[in-house]
Amino acid sequence: MFSIYTDCYPFKLIDLPYSYDALEPFIDTKTVEIHHNKHLKKYVDNLNSTLEDYPKYQCWSLNELIKNSYLLPYKIQNDVINNAGGVFNHNFYFQGMTPDSSPGPQRNLLAAILCQFGSFEEFKALFQETALKVFGSGYAVLCIDKSKRLKIATLPNQCTVLNNDLCPIIMIDVWEHAYYLKYQNRRDLYIDNWFHLINWNFAEKCYLKA
Ligand code: MN
Repeated sequence: MFSIYTDCYPFKLIDLPYSYDALEPFIDTKTVEIHHNKHLKKYVDNLNSTLEDYPKYQCWSLNELIKNSYLLPYKIQNDVINNAGGVFNHNFYFQGMTPDSSPGPQRNLLAAILCQFGSFEEFKALFQETALKVFGSGYAVLCIDKSKRLKIATLPNQCTVLNNDLCPIIMIDVWEHAYYLKYQNRRDLYIDNWFHLINWNFAEKCYLKA
């Protein structure tokens, strides 16, 4: 499940843990298919072609490429940052959803959410507001910071939590390609419906790992 951190070149397009139509009616089949098989695939292909002529870095894991990108040759730095970030973010986003979502966070994560935000409803409202306000393309993420506290953060473009020493728990993609076919300009509805798909079991595992 956490191979997304340790995979290295040649990177593969990881299968979704559900079928393209499994997230209906909250996210439509066509959107999931294009998002996975076109957008994510492009990030995987671009990352591989960027590293093709740089065997020295082909043994670096996705995690290492992102965290140590400043050590890479200048010529490929930006391409690695954008595409490795795209691969990591999308795999985390897709793993974080399930058609069999439970009503809410489980034991340990629930306790932490209540402690940090007061109630699940308050957390949800704050997360939704944050995701709605991401300007342009990016992500909203519930994560754990260095002081081991829960925090809601935003990531522009394909920046990742790994660059900021944060451990992700749940993360929503608010690039327009994630919702535009079904929701057009109604990002608020997409965010609201995404809550029906959160894989709280995965979130609990991420929380315990952090
Ligand atoms: Mn995306």
